[in-house]
Order: sequence, then C-alpha cells, then structure tokens
Amino acid sequence: MGSSASGAVNGGVSFWFADDGLPPVRAPLPGEASADVVVVGGGYTGLWTAYYLKRAVPSLRVVVLEQRFCGYGASGRNGGWLYNGVAGRDRYARLHGREAAVRLQRAMNDTVDEVIRVAAAEGIDAGLHKGGVLEVATTPAQWARLEAYHAAEVAFGEKDRELYGAEETAGRVRVAGALGSTWTPHGARVHPARLVKGLAAAVERLGVVIHEGTPVTDIRPGRAVTPYGTVRAPYVLRCTEGFTAALRGQRRTWLPMNSSMIVTEPLTEEQWAEIGWAGRETLGDLAHAYMYAQRTVDGRIALGGRGVPYRFGSRTDYDGRTRAATVGALREILVRFFPVLAGVRVAHAWSGVLGVPRDWCTTVALDRATGLGWAGGYVGSGVATSNLAARTLGDLVCLDSGQGGPTELTGLPWVNHRVRRWEPEPLRWLGVRGLYVAYRAADRRERVTGRARSSWPARAADRVAGRH
Ligand SMILES: Cc1cc2nc3c(=O)[nH]c(=O)nc-3n(C[C@H](O)[C@H](O)[C@H](O)COP(=O)(O)OP(=O)(O)OC[C@H]3O[C@@H](n4cnc5c(N)ncnc54)[C@H](O)[C@@H]3O)c2cc1C
Repeated sequence: MGSSASGAVNGGVSFWFADDGLPPVRAPLPGEASADVVVVGGGYTGLWTAYYLKRAVPSLRVVVLEQRFCGYGASGRNGGWLYNGVAGRDRYARLHGREAAVRLQRAMNDTVDEVIRVAAAEGIDAGLHKGGVLEVATTPAQWARLEAYHAAEVAFGEKDRELYGAEETAGRVRVAGALGSTWTPHGARVHPARLVKGLAAAVERLGVVIHEGTPVTDIRPGRAVTPYGTVRAPYVLRCTEGFTAALRGQRRTWLPMNSSMIVTEPLTEEQWAEIGWAGRETLGDLAHAYMYAQRTVDGRIALGGRGVPYRFGSRTDYDGRTRAATVGALREILVRFFPVLAGVRVAHAWSGVLGVPRDWCTTVALDRATGLGWAGGYVGSGVATSNLAARTLGDLVCLDSGQGGPTELTGLPWVNHRVRRWEPEPLRWLGVRGLYVAYRAADRRERVTGRARSSWPARAADRVAGRH
C-alpha cells in the first residue's frame, strides 16, 4: 500500500477492505486431502458455488482453495453495481434464438433479488440499497446509443425500464451536461467487501472448508495441486476469472482486463444537496470507455473506469496500485460530472482485474468426461452474474453426479459455450491497447464534434474486438 502526493491511499487491495478491515487469513491447506468438490478461487463465483452446492446436498464435502484471502480479486475491489447486465446476451440470441436469451435475461433480473434475499437470510450487512441503475448520456452520440440501448432492453422484456430527459435526470442526479438517461429498477448498490466477507462466513457455517494462502499451481482431472499438497475430488471447479491466465494451459483463455477506481472523502451535506442522488442509484454513462459510480454507505462517491486496460503477457497486478495518470483521469471524470467537487480530495485509489473471453460471452461449463468445470468471463458485470453462474455450475454438478435433475438453469444458453482463444503476444497487447486508444479518441471526438453518430474509431474498434 502506498500514498500519493495528494495523500490518497494507493492500492492496499481496495478502499472497501480499508473501510471494513482486511480479514484475518484462514489456515492454508495442511497437506494431502480429498473432497467431493474442490473449488479454486474464493471470490463471488467460488463462494456462491460452494454455498448453493452445500445447500442442495448438505452431505457434500466441499473445499475452497484461495491463493490469498476471500475477496482478494475483483469481488473485493469492484464498483458495487449489483445489476442485471450479462455479457454475451445478444450473441446468445443469435446462436440459440431470442427466447433462450430472454430466459437468461429474466434469470438475471431475478438474480439481483436472489442476492438481496440471501444476504438478508444469512445476516450479511452488505450495505445493499435497491435504487436501480441510472445511465446518463452527456453527448449527442451517447444519447443516440442510449436510446437504442433503452429500446433493446425494453424489447428484452424490461417493461419497467424508464427513459428520462434532461430535467427528469437532474431530478435524480445532477450530472453536468446530462442530456437524458435510462433507468432500470433491476440494480442495487452493494459494499463489495462486506458481501464477500459475509458470504465466506456463511459458506463456512454450512460446513464448507476454506483454505486461504493456498495457490493452486495446476488443475488436472480429479485434482487441484498446491505447494502444500493435492486435493483430490471428482469435480474440480475453476473460479479464478481475471487470474485464469496465470494457470497452466490457460494463458489465452480469458484476457485479464484492468479496471481502476477512486473514492472521495465523505461529501458534505451542502455538496450532496447540489448533487441530489437521494435514490442511491448506481450511476454510469454511455461513453465507449465508460465510467461507473456509486454513492457509498458512508456518503462518498466511488467511481471507476478503464486505467491501463491490459498488461503485456496477461500479467495481473499485485495489490491494486494505480498509476497517478489514471487517478488523475478518473478525478477529471468525477469533476466533469459534478463540478461542485472541483476541490474534493481523493481518499483512495485501486485497481483490479476482470476476465474477458475472446467473444465477450460469459460461460458456465462442466466437462462430464473430466469433472472439470468453470464459470466466468463476465466482462465487468460479474457482481450479480457470478451468483447465477454459480447456481448454474452447482446444478450441473448435481445433474452429473446424479444428485439432481435438469433444471431451468442447466438449460441456459451459456452452458458449455466454447470460445476461441485470444491471439498470442504481442498481438494481444497491441490489439487491446489499440482498442482503448480508439475508444478514448472516439469519446473525445464525440464531445468535441457534438455529432449524434458514434464516432468511427469506436465503430472500427468494436468490429476488431469482436463485440458485435
Ligand atoms: C475495479 C473493478 C470494478 C468492477 N465493478 C463491477 C461492478 O460494479 N459490477 C459488476 O457487476 N462487476 C464489476 N466488476 C467485475 C466483478 O467484480 C467480477 O466479475 C466478479 O467479482 C468476479 O468474481 P469471481 O469470483 O469470478 O472472480 P474474483 O473475485 O477475481 O475471484 C477469483 C479468486 O481466485 C483467486 N485465485 C486466482 N488464481 C488462483 C489460484 N491459482 N489458486 C487459488 N486461488 C486463486 C483470487 O485470489 C481471487 O480471490 C468489477 C471488476 C473490477 C476489477
């Protein structure tokens, strides 16, 4: 952990852990062991998978192996948007038909409430507030994209989504220059670290064994290998999202994409009166290099966006240290949105990694021949999606082991979807860097020209990225 000239804490995993306290690390794996299911990774995906498996079949011996501590990854560092977005829906509609994609979307809408329900049932005080998601447009090009996006979501069954003009938007949150916004009720603000800590405790109460400080060096059919011993189990589930590239044989599976965040000091009542935001919606925009933000439980603004998007060779960071230029860029967005905060101090900055598949589609899979399973590739919308993915993975294990039948979830279009691998270096690095240079250039052009059509660098970048 460090601090910058401005006094902001830099790294230290995240503000969320600084705020709520880093947990004492659980004991590592003591030696050779066996289980019915071994879960690699103690983020939301791994913990939710363990939770639902143990609820479904209480006699199952489930072991979670976590390299550092639960929540060390994106699950303890994210923006706290618990919302119904799911990466890959439109491609799934093309591949499996619209009805299958609508089922996935409906399941995602319900997932927001499922997380809120379990948090209440397990006594997890995760700072949840279901104020919905508000996404604003601040340029004509963003507005054109927003209208199209709004219409697409309504067509996917979100009849409760609302489109606001400038005045109605200001009635919710006073974002400078906002031309309008779209709002969905299917979203909640969450304190990420409190959720992951509470979930780990809930999982332990059910009888799941969690070993922390235990890096898995190899995943093979029937075993997860660590420096302290091997855990043998018929099912080995990889729940390592943005860290997956570090595992043997997985370098080109999901690209570790970086995202960075800042949080302000607590705002004064006068500042909040200027800004509004009484509904505590999660807040985002329609820029190509988009921002996301929340009003925190303790009255700060936490805001994130792309920093250095990708490191050569799929390397991931260590403790979330963030470049000064990135902190400055995020602060600039904050002040552009809320000019009243021109003098505000950034209290903490950090970064984390998320997993991006080559076709930008989230997947859940269980290979019946080997017992190897995985879930992830959420592309930045994993806070809620990880819950649905974990329930899906749990159902697949129950189905395969004869402890359950087919369910609505085992029939979702993301089950056993195969994705091609990313290009080898240096193409990967050049491609992703080029992508974000193009997105930023497009955002700037759109701000300067005021044209309603998405700027050409973004359209070209989307095609190269394989996003559409
Ligand atoms: C800065 C940031 C902001 C984000 N904001 C949002 C948001 O607002 N809303 C949203 O929906 N999504 C957001 N996301 C994405 C979301 O946080 C992730 O998709 C989600 O947390 C993924 O959960 P996970 O459990 O799959 O992965 P992770 O939380 O990354 O967990 C993986 C775990 O596996 C462990 N691990 C890795 N390798 C090994 C190994 N070899 N052996 C043992 N353990 C290992 C890691 O230490 C880690 O704890 C954000 C991500 C970032 C980085």
